[in-house]
Amino acid sequence: MSLGLPSRLPASPAIGDLIRRPAPTFSFEFMPPKTREAEQLLWRTIRELEPLRPDFVSITYGAGGTTRDTTVDVTERVATETTLLPMAHLTAVNHSIAELRNVIGRLAGAGIRNVLAVRGDPPGDPTGEWVRHPQGVLYAEDLVRLLREAGDFSVGVAAFPYKHPRSADIESDTRNFISKCRAGADFAITQMFFEADDYLRLRDRVGAAGCDTPIVPGVMPVLRMATIARSAQLSGAPFPPALLARFERIADDEAGVRKLGIELCSEMCRKLLDEGVPGIHFITMNRSPATREVWQQLAGAPAAPAAAA
Ligand code: FAD
Repeated sequence: MSLGLPSRLPASPAIGDLIRRPAPTFSFEFMPPKTREAEQLLWRTIRELEPLRPDFVSITYGAGGTTRDTTVDVTERVATETTLLPMAHLTAVNHSIAELRNVIGRLAGAGIRNVLAVRGDPPGDPTGEWVRHPQGVLYAEDLVRLLREAGDFSVGVAAFPYKHPRSADIESDTRNFISKCRAGADFAITQMFFEADDYLRLRDRVGAAGCDTPIVPGVMPVLRMATIARSAQLSGAPFPPALLARFERIADDEAGVRKLGIELCSEMCRKLLDEGVPGIHFITMNRSPATREVWQQLAGAPAAPAAAA
C-alpha cells in the first residue's frame, strides 16, 4: 500500500546497510532539548562529538509524543547543518495512525531516511500501563510496517538483553522480537546493559531461532549511583550484583564512581568488539565527556573507532 509519500528518499546512506558492513559502527544517541539551556548544551555536545566521526547519531522521541516537533526539527538540523548522519526515533504512544503517517511524512519530506521504531513508554511513569490510542497501533511491529509502506526507510527496532519488562518470559520476548524484525526491521539497538554476557545471550537466542537481524549494543557508563537505580527501572532487571558491590564500596566517592563506571564500560565494549558485535551505540544523555573518555580508551583496541582527523 502506498501512502502517497515520496517513494524515493534522497540518497542518504541506510543505517541498516552500514551496520551490515564488516567494520563495526559507532554511534551516539541524543535527546531533544526542552529548554533554551538544554538546546545550547545539546548543540555544544554535538559539535564536540562531531570530530569523532561517528557512523550515525540518533535523536529520541519524548514520551507520549511530547517532543514530536523537536525530534523532527533536531534530526533535520543535524542532517542539514552538520556532517553527521541522523536517525529519528518514533513512538506510537498517544498517536493515531493518521498522526503517525503525518510524522512519517514530515521525516520523509526532510530527507530523513533512518528511523528507530519503538512502541514508547507511557508519559510520566515509564512502568505504567500502556494504553493504545483508539485509532493507533498496538506494537512496534505495526510501526515498522507503517514505515515500510511509506517509503524507502531503513528501520531499526529495540531489543532487550534482560527481556522487555512487560514480557511474560524470555521465549515470548524472543518470539515477539523476531516478529518485528520479520515485519521489516533492518537492525536493532539494545536497551543499556552492564555485562557483555547479557548481550551475548540475547544474540545467541535470536540467532538460534533463525533470525540474523544485526543487534547493536546500546551502552551507557555508570557515572553516578543514581544511574544504577534508573537502569534497573528501564531494563526491568536488577543491576548485576557483583558490579553493584564494587560501586557500593565507593558510593561516597563521586569521582571514584565515575572512574569505575568509565573503566567498566570500556572493558565491556572491548569484549563486545572482540566478540564481533556489529556496532556500539553510546547513550550520551546530551553530554560529551564520558562518551569521549570511553572512546579514547577503546582507541587502542582492535576494531576500534577510526581516529578523528
Ligand atoms: P514492542 O516491540 O511493541 O514490545 C512491547 C511489549 O509487547 C513486549 O513485552 C513485547 O514482547 C510485546 N509484544 C510485541 N509484539 C507483540 C505481539 N505481536 N504479540 C504479543 N506481544 C507482543 N521510548 C521512547 O519513549 N522514546 C524513544 O525515543 C525511545 N527510544 C528507545 C531506544 C532504544 C534503543 C530502546 C531499547 C528503547 C527505547 N525506548 C524509547 C523505550 C521503548 O519505547 C520502551 O521500552 C517500550 O516499552 C518498548 O518498546 P518496543 O519498541 O520494544 O515495544
